[in-house]
Amino acid sequence: MRSVITGGAGFIGSHLVDALVARGDEVTVIDNLVTGSLGTINTHVIDETVRFVCEDLLGDGWQDLLAGQDRVYHLAADPDVRASAGSPFRVYRENLAATECVLEAMREQGVTELVFTSTSTVYGEASVIPTPEDYSPMEPISIYGGTKLACEAMISSYAHTYGMKAWVFRFANIVGPRSNHGVIWDFVHKLRDNPQELEILGDGRQIKSYFSVEACIEAFLYATAHAHQPFNVFNIGSEDWIDVRSIAEIVIGEMGLSGIPLRYTGGDRGWKGDVPKMLLSVERLRGLGWRPLTNSEESVRRAARELVHEIQG
Ligand code: NAD
Repeated sequence: MRSVITGGAGFIGSHLVDALVARGDEVTVIDNLVTGSLGTINTHVIDETVRFVCEDLLGDGWQDLLAGQDRVYHLAADPDVRASAGSPFRVYRENLAATECVLEAMREQGVTELVFTSTSTVYGEASVIPTPEDYSPMEPISIYGGTKLACEAMISSYAHTYGMKAWVFRFANIVGPRSNHGVIWDFVHKLRDNPQELEILGDGRQIKSYFSVEACIEAFLYATAHAHQPFNVFNIGSEDWIDVRSIAEIVIGEMGLSGIPLRYTGGDRGWKGDVPKMLLSVERLRGLGWRPLTNSEESVRRAARELVHEIQG
């Protein structure tokens, strides 16, 4: 299969590159390296199993690369929920306008399959937990979540209007090596800079689902092989959750520290747009025969161990 991955030098994108190369796909990565790094995929670029193109999706230097491709995996985005409140127009451009550019290039070049990485934040503060894909009303409470829901709407309209097939995956928190943001990454950096205390945003009781990046990729490749509607939507995450205090203790332990005082900034959420609780129903994906083989605590512990090693050397 000939595949293009936007954002393929980022955290999740680089793991997807590994998986697609391993199964023999011809892979082209388009990434402007704003948060991604060539180091994440360099071995594939050096041995020429991956073609890397450094371009911004909002520019016009990449559209012709889509000619003759079978599928686009569109992962490029600004994934920072917390920072999105500070720059809504930039997030709109990086997320929604860039997605529109990808859809237009696909239409012009005749590429008919799209995989899109969406998020649990499209649900906002859901009253049904675990939250199923058909939950309503969809009321995102972050700028990030709002742009992702708008992307989903555009993708649905293109799929139905232009005969495309799209798979939209709403991820829980995805964790693992090479991540460059998120709570585990944040705690490891804070403790490396100051091992005397750990600041925790909110009251630390926020409780959410976490899922290993490798398991996430297995899940969404499984769904693309088994779901064949024009527009397919799936939640992906583990079937349980873990709170921020427990994550802090796991990170402290994995860094070989103990007895570190935890300082809470207070309130039931970490930032504007955060939700105190998030757990996604994965029954729809289970209905296709998929089973999550890891839980939140295992995913966090493994990611913490790998990130400590990566960040501290
Ligand atoms: P990331 O920042 O590591 O990856 C994003 C990549 O996109 C980076 O390599 C960046 O350089 C690139 N990029 C950004 N804007 C670009 C542009 N205009 N042109 C070209 N390249 C551009 O983030 P990630 O955590 O790997 O997230 C990947 C996708 O998964 C995103 O769409 C994100 O919204 C989604 N997602 C992530 C999580 C998570 O827990 N990490 C959860 C839900 C959804």
